[in-house]
Amino acid sequence: MNLILLGPPGAGKGTQAKRLQDRYGTVQISTGDMLRAEVAAGSEVGLQAKAVMAAGALVSDDILIRMLAGRITRPDCAQGFILDGFPRTVPQAVALDTMLAGLGKQLDAVIELVVDDGALVERIAGRYTCGKCGEGYHDVFQKPARAGVCDRCGGNEFVRRADDKRETVAARLEAYHAQTAPILPHYKASGKLHQVDGMADIDAVTQELITLLDGLR
Ligand code: ADP
Ligand code: ADP
Ligand code: ZN
Repeated sequence: MNLILLGPPGAGKGTQAKRLQDRYGTVQISTGDMLRAEVAAGSEVGLQAKAVMAAGALVSDDILIRMLAGRITRPDCAQGFILDGFPRTVPQAVALDTMLAGLGKQLDAVIELVVDDGALVERIAGRYTCGKCGEGYHDVFQKPARAGVCDRCGGNEFVRRADDKRETVAARLEAYHAQTAPILPHYKASGKLHQVDGMADIDAVTQELITLLDGLR
């Protein structure tokens, strides 16, 4: 099963992609995580991306398209993949079509998590992850069962993203509406676009996704 999860920053793409990965064995591909790894490694791509990401703008299509082409051809994608954060522009969507056609692969569904802009600031400002295993949490909406201890791996160090500040959220939302939302008609035309209510609580969203995806199989 090959999926795209779309939605503004904070919509719940990463949270849901991890759960779908556990359930269906389809690998989560997060271009944001890949870019953060490049920044942390101080690679050439990382050096180019760092300031752009900190400003809440989009990194160039060139870099992203090359990055995804390298990732989607790896063997672990044979069981299927969930794209989380790609494509984010029309040129990226077009490049993805070409890549998939070249690989003889197809998209099964493109799922838009629909969330009110007003909810996103609080979601992003409260977001943090386990420093060891990457499990996602939220100060209010998704606390670990035992305070300070990761549910998944027992780790006790947590990290917050440099760009998860109230000040950058507006810029990121603007980038979403101006550059990413225009790809929705591209997928609507192919009949693969599904909308899921991302305002429901985390478990309810997962349930809705499972119902949708099981219906497609
Ligand atoms: P979020 O989960 O909040 O939507 P991501 O982790 O997906 O954020 O992305 C973080 C940042 O990385 C983006 O604000 C952007 O600067 C960059 N980025 C990630 N994916 C892409 C992409 N496909 N195209 C351009 N920039 C990207
Ligand atoms: P995205 O990958 O789309 O940027 P995340 O999955 O990282 O979004 O979610 C952003 C934050 O909001 C995280 O802290 C997460 O725990 C929380 N969150 C995700 N989905 C929901 C939801 N349906 N209701 C409330 N909080 C949520
Ligand atoms: Zn952990």
